[in-house]
Amino acid sequence: MERTAGGITYTLTRRRVRNINLRVRADGSVVASASPRVPAAYVDAFVTARADWVRTAQARAAARREREAAEAPALPPKPEALAYMQALCRAYYPQFSATCPGGAMPKIAVRDMNTRWGSCSLRTGTLAFARRLCTMPLPAQEYVVVHEFCHFAHPDHSPAFWAAVAEVLPDYKQRERMLKLRGGRADAFPRGERCLRPRPQTDEGGACRDCP
Ligand SMILES: [Zn+2]
Repeated sequence: MERTAGGITYTLTRRRVRNINLRVRADGSVVASASPRVPAAYVDAFVTARADWVRTAQARAAARREREAAEAPALPPKPEALAYMQALCRAYYPQFSATCPGGAMPKIAVRDMNTRWGSCSLRTGTLAFARRLCTMPLPAQEYVVVHEFCHFAHPDHSPAFWAAVAEVLPDYKQRERMLKLRGGRADAFPRGERCLRPRPQTDEGGACRDCP
């Protein structure tokens, strides 16, 4: 529920929390959560009393976004990014040819994805990668390539899937960490999108939502 109090527009969510939680997100939006028992007018008053704090936090978030945009490495042009990812995938394909659909080299796509680094579609036999992956260190790129290739045999994040990744890249955990540490813009990839829990792969749109 969107509300305005003390000149602050915020989203009120009802949750079983003891107190009122007030938070300014990285994008500057404001979220308050409160127990269903707390009247909305009370939450409004709470937000009004903290309006200065909210504005300061929003200014800080805006400054951080600006700094990160300035520091972010420039994205390569799409054809260049595609050629690069194709070459990287071709290098790994021989290790996965037995499990690729039809045994063929998968189609490779590069997209401006904001929530994940890669995706795998069994239906179309396509591996797609975020264009931004090209700005990451090679070990991290290799990890995403291997991760997506492994989904052809394991369309989930089961222990068998991780064992298959580890077989090719025993140090995959360190590589995965690079995706989070590098670039300072890792928060553009929300935490929930990481491969932390097993989740069935949806072939809808060819995306495994939990891919790195
Ligand atoms: Zn995945």
